[in-house]
Amino acid sequence: MARTRRYDVAASGRWWDQDDGRWLPAGEVHAWEQGRNETVCGLSLHRSGLTRFPAVTWTDVLPESGGAADAVRRVCPRCASAAGRRGPDARPAWRRVNPRP
Ligand SMILES: [Zn+2]
Repeated sequence: MARTRRYDVAASGRWWDQDDGRWLPAGEVHAWEQGRNETVCGLSLHRSGLTRFPAVTWTDVLPESGGAADAVRRVCPRCASAAGRRGPDARPAWRRVNPRP
């Protein structure tokens, strides 16, 4: 079984989710790998003013599958094609990958 790479999130804004007690991304979101200074599409986090969300996984911000997508206005298409997104031609949504403990 191929293991998919884990991507986290960098976004142009953030908001405090009181229910979950955590910051969630807002505005435009990009895929980001922990330990890197740039997004998957090559934007500098610092120069672009992007906030990192190490606790939010990429699939959580996708409107079609995410639990953290409430304030997301735009998903970067380049990051989406690199990190993958669920859609009509992707795997069925019920085949969710279980996060490892
Ligand atoms: Zn991007």
